Amino acid sequence: MTLEWIIFDVDDVVLDMDQLSQVAERAVQDALTEPLGADAAARVYQGLHAAYDTLRAELRATAGGASEAHRRLIARFEGWQQASLQAGHELKQWSRQSLLSVALEDAGLPARPEWVELGARAYWAAVAEGTRILPDAQRAVAAARAAGLGVHFATNSDGGLTFDPASGTYGYDAAEATRQKVARLDALLALGFTRADVTVGDPIGKPHRAFYEAVLTDVAAKAGAPVDPGRVAAVGDSLTNDVLPLMRMGAERGAWILRKSEGPTPAEVPEAPRVWRIRSLDELGRLGFFG
Ligand SMILES: [Mg+2]
Repeated sequence: MTLEWIIFDVDDVVLDMDQLSQVAERAVQDALTEPLGADAAARVYQGLHAAYDTLRAELRATAGGASEAHRRLIARFEGWQQASLQAGHELKQWSRQSLLSVALEDAGLPARPEWVELGARAYWAAVAEGTRILPDAQRAVAAARAAGLGVHFATNSDGGLTFDPASGTYGYDAAEATRQKVARLDALLALGFTRADVTVGDPIGKPHRAFYEAVLTDVAAKAGAPVDPGRVAAVGDSLTNDVLPLMRMGAERGAWILRKSEGPTPAEVPEAPRVWRIRSLDELGRLGFFG
């Protein structure tokens, strides 16, 4: 069947967050050096880096059980997100407020909200400053457009949270979280895309079906007609979060990009029919994604 739409995940598919998150973690260390001292700020950096690595490892894993480290981290996030969870929101895995709270605790410090906020602001300022489009993403988007395909972006929540003094934990405002996420996507807009080309996972994010229904609704609004999932391709760096949910809804094909993938690519993913593991978005053309 002919493809009409390609739906790209954003972080580490179009924008290089792997590299940027390390720069941003150093910015947190710099920002916290004044209030905490150099040694404590270095320990916070180490904790932040380790916790982010745990999240990232889980995201890139094949379908299967979560690691013990990931389960423990999520349990601690649940503690820090009591105000948000009690208001009925899903856990925000990627909340830097939660990551920073955990990192401060691991450094033997109280997770004071003013330190968390200072760190989070430094983190996102470094990200906003350094965000660049990956060169193969630029080429893939151009090739898709040249082939007459529509391009849409589906990005998860960053989980922007606000401290709730009453509970001593963090609460959530979907509109504010969306605003914060969109604010760091200027690089996408520079490619000629608009806000209408991006679906953000607030309040419901990946991998939930409700999120991907919102994605298809947004695509249909652009198309001016309902979208047949059988004419959609999914591209992401998480098999479980980005690719498989759309495949289950009938997407025609998928690509799972692991930039540090070992072995020959493209390679079929044994547990996922019509999904290929790739190392570069330049492989999409060879796989027939652009007709
Ligand atoms: Mg991603």
